[in-house]
Amino acid sequence: MCERVKILGATVSCEAGHWYVSIQVEIKKERPATPSPVVGVDVGLKQAAVVSDGRRLQNQRPLALHLKKLGKLQRKLSKKQKTKAGETKRTVFSNNYEKQRLKVARKHQQIANIRRDVQHKFTTELARTCGVIGIEDLHLLGMMANRKLARAVADAAMGQFLQFLKTKVAYAGGDLFVASRWFPSTKRCSCCGHIKKRMPLKHRTYQCLVCGLVIDRDLNAALNLAWFAREMLCQLRA
Ligand SMILES: [Zn+2]
Repeated sequence: MCERVKILGATVSCEAGHWYVSIQVEIKKERPATPSPVVGVDVGLKQAAVVSDGRRLQNQRPLALHLKKLGKLQRKLSKKQKTKAGETKRTVFSNNYEKQRLKVARKHQQIANIRRDVQHKFTTELARTCGVIGIEDLHLLGMMANRKLARAVADAAMGQFLQFLKTKVAYAGGDLFVASRWFPSTKRCSCCGHIKKRMPLKHRTYQCLVCGLVIDRDLNAALNLAWFAREMLCQLRA
């Protein structure tokens, strides 16, 4: 395939002692004429994502382990930060505190790099194999993230994920539909459309009392997101 690439510019940045160069390019590409499969993707912050066609993509366990380690480092840091009654704020800036703060910063950097790598691979795979994708509003996932971690970290990660996906899907000539926080992806039955009042997190299987469907919770959510994408596509083309 012949593609025209135009280099728009380059940015040099330095993060935690490492230098990075990013190059911005403009690529002209024609939209593929063949219809592509419509899928829904249920994304977990730590677990593998589930695609409505049955695939489970990119287990993020290494990331989860690092997040656990970060939690430990942060707890240690906050202990060092505590000042005993009567002590001045000097304690906060002790050498030990500074050392610990640096450890936390490095772990943040390491996690950001791993996450970027995981997200790049995952979004490339999705954009390459799916033409139309339905996905949840991922900022909501950030809000539900592990409370021991800063919500901002999770939010930023999810924002980055969505940005990668938008860019790659657009590049591949596909469509991405993001369901709002009100879309009942876990409560809806992907077979008959019945919506349950409650679907607690501990219920790993979805059981429909109306049509009798019994299905994995995440796969059901992914199928609902595929349905959502199909609906949006119909509205768009109507
Ligand atoms: Zn049902």
